[in-house]
Amino acid sequence: MILDDFSLKGKVAVVTGANTGLGQGMCVALAQAGARVAGVARRSCAETAQLINKDGGEFFEVIADMSDTKNAPVILNTVLEKYGCVDILVNNAGIILREDAVNVTEEDWNKVINLNLNMVFLLSQAFARQYIRQGHGGKIVNVASMTSYQGGIRIPAYTSSKSAVLGLTRELANEWAKHGINVNAIAPGYMATNNTAQLRDDEKRSGEILDRIPAGRWGTPEDMAGAVVFLCSKAAEYVHGFTVAVDGGWLAR
Ligand code: NAD
Repeated sequence: MILDDFSLKGKVAVVTGANTGLGQGMCVALAQAGARVAGVARRSCAETAQLINKDGGEFFEVIADMSDTKNAPVILNTVLEKYGCVDILVNNAGIILREDAVNVTEEDWNKVINLNLNMVFLLSQAFARQYIRQGHGGKIVNVASMTSYQGGIRIPAYTSSKSAVLGLTRELANEWAKHGINVNAIAPGYMATNNTAQLRDDEKRSGEILDRIPAGRWGTPEDMAGAVVFLCSKAAEYVHGFTVAVDGGWLAR
C-alpha cells in the first residue's frame, strides 16, 4: 500500500547539524517515520535525543567538528561501528556569515565554503562509496536555500555555496542513479531558526520578508518533515537530482 512506501522502518539515517533548527526537525521526522537516526553535531544533541526518545524512537549522537573535512570518513565509520550499515544521509549542517562583499575576509569565505559545500561533497562521496559496497542503493538529501536560485545580499560565500549545492545535487544524481542512489535537495525558504535570528531581529527586514511570503509566516523545522521523509523513502525511488522548495510560496511570487 502507498503509505508503506513512506515508511523508513529498519533504515539508518544520518543527519548533520542535528542539535538545533531544521536538522533537529528532520531528525524527529525521520525517527517518526521509523528510522534509527544518527545525528552529527559539534555540541550535545540532548534535546533532539529527548524529542525522539519520548516517542519511543532511537537516536545516536556523533560529536564531530565538520569544519575539519578529515572528519567525513570518521563520521561514516562511527555510524557503521554502531549500526553496521547506512541508508540515508541528510547534509544539513551549514553556516551563514553576513557582511558586505567588499569586507569579507578570505578566512570567512573559506569557512562557509568548506562546511556548506566541501563537506557536503566529501560526506556524500564517503556515503556513496559505502552504498555501492552495500549494493542496495541509498538516499542523499542536501539542504539548499532560496539563494540556490536568488542572489541574496551581504552573504556572498553563502549564496555561492548554496547555488553550488543545487548543481552538485544534479551532478551526483546523474552519476549515482545507476547504483540506486537518489540524490535530491530541499530548498527551505525563510525559516525561524538561529540562521535567520539576525534577520528576524531587524524589524524592517523581517516585515519586508513576511510581506513577500504567500503563506504569510516564517517556516518552522516541522515544515521540513514531509519533504525529507518523502525524499528518503521508497516513494521517491524515481526522483533524482531535484530540489524541492519548502518556502511558503516564496519562489512562486
Ligand atoms: P542552525 O544554525 O540552527 O543550524 C545549523 C546547524 O549546523 C547546527 O546544528 C550546527 O550545530 C551545525 N553546524 C554548524 N557548524 C558546524 C560544524 N563546524 N560542525 C558540525 N555542525 C555544525 O540553522 P538552520 O536554519 O537549522 O540551518 C540548517 C541548514 O538549513 C543550513 O544548511 C542552512 O544553511 C539551511 N537553510 C536555513 C534556512 C533558514 O531560513 N533557517 C533557509 C535555507 C537554508
